[in-house]
Amino acid sequence: MSNVEWEDDDPFEEQRDNVENPMGRLFRVYGTPNAFQFLVGVISSISARVLDLLPPLMLGIAIDTIFGDNAFGEQVPLVVLPNSWLPATQTQQFWFVIVTIGGAFGLAAGFHWVRNWGFNSFAQEIQHDVRTDTYNKMQRLNMDFFADKQTGEMMSILSNDVNRLERFLNDGMNSLFRMLVMVLGIGVLLFWINWQLAAVALLPVPVIAATTYLFIKIIQPKYAETRSSVGKLNSRLENNLGGVKVIKSSNTEEYESERVDDVSMDYFDANWDAIRTRIKFFPALRILAGVGFVLTFIIGGLWVFQDTPPLFFSGDLSVGMFVVFILYTQRFIWPMAQFGQIINMYQRARASSARIFGLMDEPNRLAEDPDATDLVVDDGDVVYDDVTFGYDDDPVVQNIDFEVEGGETLALVGPTGAGKSTILKLLLRMYDVDDGAIRIDDQDLRGITLQSARQSLGYVGQDTFMFYGSVRENIRYGTFDADHEEIVDAAKAAEAHDFILNLPDGYDTEIGERGVKLSGGQRQRLAIARAVLKDPEILILDEATSDVDTETEMLIQRSVDELTENRTTFAIAHRLSTIKDADTILVLEGGEIVERGSHENLIRNDGLYAHLWGVQAGEIDELPEEFIERAAKRQARTEATDDWQSC
Ligand code: ADP
Repeated sequence: MSNVEWEDDDPFEEQRDNVENPMGRLFRVYGTPNAFQFLVGVISSISARVLDLLPPLMLGIAIDTIFGDNAFGEQVPLVVLPNSWLPATQTQQFWFVIVTIGGAFGLAAGFHWVRNWGFNSFAQEIQHDVRTDTYNKMQRLNMDFFADKQTGEMMSILSNDVNRLERFLNDGMNSLFRMLVMVLGIGVLLFWINWQLAAVALLPVPVIAATTYLFIKIIQPKYAETRSSVGKLNSRLENNLGGVKVIKSSNTEEYESERVDDVSMDYFDANWDAIRTRIKFFPALRILAGVGFVLTFIIGGLWVFQDTPPLFFSGDLSVGMFVVFILYTQRFIWPMAQFGQIINMYQRARASSARIFGLMDEPNRLAEDPDATDLVVDDGDVVYDDVTFGYDDDPVVQNIDFEVEGGETLALVGPTGAGKSTILKLLLRMYDVDDGAIRIDDQDLRGITLQSARQSLGYVGQDTFMFYGSVRENIRYGTFDADHEEIVDAAKAAEAHDFILNLPDGYDTEIGERGVKLSGGQRQRLAIARAVLKDPEILILDEATSDVDTETEMLIQRSVDELTENRTTFAIAHRLSTIKDADTILVLEGGEIVERGSHENLIRNDGLYAHLWGVQAGEIDELPEEFIERAAKRQARTEATDDWQSC
């Protein structure tokens, strides 16, 4: 990775912009299978909130009828119950109110429990489904997407964005229904009890709505800034932790500390800016709520106290209903204030859904032909028929034309950047050819299923990645049904058995970050054991012995020779001694085959291969000047591309 501001690079932007109505799609695709939990959540949420409204109303009724002298149910006709069901004596009414309030509390608690179950399981199910689908899609993306700068982005989609959905699907939904019931329910009840006082109590509502709207408008860009600065901070930290060796060895700790200080300060500033706005908003709401409360208290209080409507008001207002007004006005304001938060959560969830679907909609250049058939390997012949390919528009390898007969070994040699790995990546079908065709036993790679093709191909590369887990699990990776004996045989064939036995727990030794660290050579031998166990018809060795000392190389070479016997093998090696026995050697330069033949033929030819052989045999003094110049130029070119690639 480099220090360039890669965080602005957004590989999925194009697809993201094309995602239409991401929230609609989220609910349609992932919500529908979990509709039951959602409905349970909605129904119990509404029921719980409605029940929450009951106690203040019953208190008002009690004040008027039990402690006052109005007829029960006069102010607020208990429409849901027929009159004949209503209790007649004050004692009965008293107990009726108590039972109703107690029942409302009890039932509401039950509904709150069910509501939490509904929304939480809805959110968790969706989150799980989205996460696994996104991961499955990501695994099938072209190799281009796994360049360093994009793994961070994918990691962030898989963790941050998927997690952010939960906040809206659970908390957001909860708040939304609470707000709807509270605002609508209380609004309707207040107007029903006394529409004039209701108008007073609700007077601040338009102002609250306008303030909330304004708040969202102001805070949103600030939140966006915060998110972007936290992204930059994370990238910087991730980059520095990954490059800590370079930092230490270049003695640039102070420089890096300053850079981290800078991005952390940017995050601080952005966050502080948002916090300043947020902490002003809530007191402002309190003031508005207070204004509504005081106004209602003044008008309602005078009304009750003087027993006549003040100002231009008309009609009656009882003490009980006045109390109901006061209690409801208090409960009404806060759900309204939450509106801003709900909108905020919705928009964040929307942005995250767009990022998730953007990744899911990423076209796969390697889309499998629906009529693809399974590969049937007979002899193991591999033909490259005039193949041309480029990662971008410019071809990297062109007119690659050769045939390897089943069981033979083909070696690819040439300077760095000549296209050797690229040619093998095409056989592994990490990319499709732009022109020409690759055929295995007369079957075009594009017409066979990826799964069957990869089943028949074994790969041992330069960077032999080991998964967290035991040595045994790592050898068995891909051949999961292998038993212990087969694993040991494979390890023996790869000259790995002895060193494995010397590890603390033998085959059960944990490797990776939490376990023992293996040397490059040891990892390579495990990778070879993995390939031996898989026993593929076609084997690809991409500098498989690059990371080991000469002695180990000798050992490995023995196991490799055994492994490649009677198996079609492709080998790339910098050390030409390891491939000199290959049946055919292709010499590449600048993406084209410049020489081909056996070792003896090529030496006799006295071309590029002979020179490379000469260099490795230590005959630099005997090389023509022109060759050294060409090598220097080539080196400069590669360094330039490497620099470019690391950007
Ligand atoms: P070799 O294996 O001979 O060293 P490669 O096949 O790795 O050469 O690379 C051939 C050329 O393709 C180089 O110029 C390299 O910079 C370029 N290249 C390799 N991988 C990629 C990639 N993923 N995207 C773009 N260019 C690439």
